[in-house]
Amino acid sequence: MVNLCEQLARIVGGPHVITDPQVLVSFTTDWSGRFSGPALCAVRPADTREVAAVVHACIASDTPMIPQGGNTGLVGGSVPGPSDQLAVIVSTTRLDWVDAIDPITGQVSVGAGVRLAVLQAHARAAGWEYGVDLGARDTATIGGTVATNAGGIEVIANGMTRAQLAGIEAVLPDGSVIVHMTGLMKDNTGFDLAGLLCGSEGSLGVITAARLRLRRPPSERTLALVGVRNFEEALHVMNQHRSRSLLAAEVMDDMSMQLGMRLTGLPYPLRQHHPVVLLLEIADDPSGLHVSDDAVIACDADDRARLWRYREGLGEAYSALGVVHRFDVSVPLDRIPEWIERMREQLTSDPSVETFGFFGHMADGNIHLEVHGPASDDHGIDRMVLTSVVACGGSISAEHGIGRAKTQYLSMVRSASEIVAMQAIKRAWDPRDLMNPGVLFSTTATPG
Ligand code: FAD
Repeated sequence: MVNLCEQLARIVGGPHVITDPQVLVSFTTDWSGRFSGPALCAVRPADTREVAAVVHACIASDTPMIPQGGNTGLVGGSVPGPSDQLAVIVSTTRLDWVDAIDPITGQVSVGAGVRLAVLQAHARAAGWEYGVDLGARDTATIGGTVATNAGGIEVIANGMTRAQLAGIEAVLPDGSVIVHMTGLMKDNTGFDLAGLLCGSEGSLGVITAARLRLRRPPSERTLALVGVRNFEEALHVMNQHRSRSLLAAEVMDDMSMQLGMRLTGLPYPLRQHHPVVLLLEIADDPSGLHVSDDAVIACDADDRARLWRYREGLGEAYSALGVVHRFDVSVPLDRIPEWIERMREQLTSDPSVETFGFFGHMADGNIHLEVHGPASDDHGIDRMVLTSVVACGGSISAEHGIGRAKTQYLSMVRSASEIVAMQAIKRAWDPRDLMNPGVLFSTTATPG
């Protein structure tokens, strides 16, 4: 009898079925190094037809599948759990075609495996811009950003990935293919399947292509790096620019600045030392900025890129400490200072905590808290932080999603009725729970 790996090799070609443990490890361990688990193999189909054939073969042998793009997801959704049934990782990296941009609508169709930076460059070269940008742009794929409804640094201006999505192609858990890529502005013809697949974290199928809306870039861009006394002042400075064309507002506390500078070798950018630093980008010339004297202003692309380096390496800077508990939470804007103060008190008095720091997408109320010290399997710290976020009216996941890391906390922010409704959709599409089982819901059973 032909085993599954041999069947998959017949579909995608032998070199695209990875079983060598030394190569497989890059598919079974995520970017953060915190999540990993064994897999039967990884496959790299070349097109939608091959993805569908892979899904059919997995269904026939009752084998779970894990869609994977750039593996930068940070919540364990793109890799197997440590004790899961051996799964097939379906890597989309060969689905990397890019169509010409429609000059009238500014829409473009791309394969799911296209890297975000490749799409951005493609758009720029034709005088357009893609409205999603994030630090993992060189590795994260369009399929992954759609599957996670990724946010990033320009959400205040453009919305999240779902707002850019004009169409989708996907292989569903039964192996059928849905194609809805017309990109029509108006199309009220039933359920919005693209919207549903967006943010489904690979639990409802493998996204194979997306049609995306591009925008014309602003004629001017100015970036300011501003020193402020605290998060309250950062909010105040940002709010002064809200009615203008605010593109991004990123905030970093001193620990984040120090670790970032250690990683990049960059000097402290301001004349005086400040407890909090704000990066503010506007679609205007510098006269549109209202910031204190101690600020650095960048107008040309090179200077802006230099200032963004203070923010972009922060995930890596914290990873250099070792195991880090990462929190990607959102808090109502007016409660950010209060929540941060509460966290500081609790984390400072916890003997297991060695280092912690805050940074994030201030304009969206999306704060990243990184905590180093507690062991990887110490869930006490996770529960403490997430409970406090919920008590402030926030969300346990602003943009990274639930993955495997936060399934046990989903009921803190979604009601039992909402979870039952989501699980009903999952069961209808994937009755045998073969498409990324254990992601979003720890079990597909109705919560007791
Ligand atoms: P993966 O990590 O491979 O997968 C993520 C999830 O999507 C998994 O559940 C996987 O099963 C599913 N998936 C992947 N591809 C498909 C597909 N084709 N079809 C169906 N399901 C699929 N995220 C933000 O939102 N904003 C940020 O600002 C941001 N900054 C980051 C900075 C750094 C340095 C890093 C490492 C990560 C950052 N992230 C950010 C998280 C991450 O980059 C995003 O979640 C991104 O969308 C993941 O894309 P990926 O291709 O790496 O997906």
